[in-house]
Amino acid sequence: MTTQQRRTKILATLGPATDPPGMLDQLLKAGVDVVRLNFSHGDPSSQLARAEAVRAAAKRVGTEVGILADLPGPKIRIERFAEGRVELKTGDAFDLVASEDAPMGNAREVGVSYLDLPGDVAPGDTLLLDDGLMQLRVERVEGARIHCIVLNDGVLSDRKGLNKLGGGLSLGALTERDRELIKVAAEANVDFIAVSFCRNAADMDEARRVAREAGCDAAMVAKVERAEAIANLTEIVDASDVVMVARGDLGVEIGDAELPGLQKKIIKESLARNKVVITATQMLQSMVESPIPTRAEVLDVANAVIDGTDAVMLSAESAAGRYPVKAVEAMVRICLGAERQFAHDTDFEAAPRNLQRVDQAIAMAAMFLTEHIGLRAIVAMTESGGTARFLSRFRSGAPIYAFSRHAGARRRMAMMRDVFPIDYDSRGQTPGEAGRGSIARLVQAGLLEPGERVAFTSGERMEHRGATNTLRLLQVGPDGEAEGLGEL
Ligand code: PGA
Ligand code: MN
Repeated sequence: MTTQQRRTKILATLGPATDPPGMLDQLLKAGVDVVRLNFSHGDPSSQLARAEAVRAAAKRVGTEVGILADLPGPKIRIERFAEGRVELKTGDAFDLVASEDAPMGNAREVGVSYLDLPGDVAPGDTLLLDDGLMQLRVERVEGARIHCIVLNDGVLSDRKGLNKLGGGLSLGALTERDRELIKVAAEANVDFIAVSFCRNAADMDEARRVAREAGCDAAMVAKVERAEAIANLTEIVDASDVVMVARGDLGVEIGDAELPGLQKKIIKESLARNKVVITATQMLQSMVESPIPTRAEVLDVANAVIDGTDAVMLSAESAAGRYPVKAVEAMVRICLGAERQFAHDTDFEAAPRNLQRVDQAIAMAAMFLTEHIGLRAIVAMTESGGTARFLSRFRSGAPIYAFSRHAGARRRMAMMRDVFPIDYDSRGQTPGEAGRGSIARLVQAGLLEPGERVAFTSGERMEHRGATNTLRLLQVGPDGEAEGLGEL
């Protein structure tokens, strides 16, 4: 096999730039594994239409793509200006008015829809608008009116986001609107639901409960983007299936200088706790306007790959940029380069010692053997994708071919690094037959060759979730038939 398989997954946000006919097909062909519907923008029906368009495009292209619904969460926003925008100068007095009947904004004041804001701020606090592009210092609070001083020259326009430096805004994670949108996401049969601004495990548990009640089995994604989420990182990771390093809002709340260290910490913690992790925001920001990334952006994507992320994400670059396809192509290229140049040392030292589950134990054993006797690949029969997740928490050189008859499980596995989901129905087969059948498929596809050796995992009782309890070593025979491995 000559072509290098990309191991890191690519998540692309959909938006106006991906709506033109033919664009989704191009993006999927270029290598998008999962798409993000950003429920912060547009009405739910336009997002549902995008979900349908993605499924149709995936069918045409002959691929399977995961769909992630990203909830708006309690993002605090300023209201609108009479003129759409205002110019502010350092030292200007500017008030935020937290009241439902605040008039349209002007160069002296603007409304805020979060009515509890005056209780959450104190004189001396720094408020950051538009991801930090405009900074205000709180001078004094008078009823619903927060008197501020402008700290930098700039332009402020309608509905920009507002954060407090250091975090500490008290509002909860799951708004009424989020609850409604979870139902919409359930109806759209999405594969992932992302909870914005979650603070703790309880926020994730609540979102999961609402999703399950709506009949949705999507993987739950915790967006780590609040100072509180960093303080509660371990419990949030444990309460979610996927974790997102949401660098945009996180950088605003905790200061950009903390981001590199936190990105590494969040990725490490997620992998150690058997969770999938996405690195997001401004990865190729200049490509919103430019056909090639800056060198710094190339290094940023590559460094996330080296840090061990499962997936890298495009935001405005794909949703609203001039070069969505080129942005995906750049990510593909950079991921391949990083994977080529920095082979990962599989680190069994970091592996958990007190294993909790049989499928986890089998996955660890498979990975240990793969590394120590030099196997070509791991072939996993998996119902829910759980075995593939445990396998892929180690960064190994061997691809994990994950066979499942469940399309939902395959689309959730599309987010996992090193995992290549394959549609395969093993019903009625013994584990021996499934081993022969799946390996024949890989040989046919050109992914395995005679003489190559694999670890094969399955359940003794097939078609049961979490029932993986068997590990066998197989070798591809001269005619492409799977045989038991006779000797090392
Ligand atoms: P957003 O989340 O794009 O929905 O704001 C990601 C981030 O904050 O980095
Ligand atoms: Mn965010």
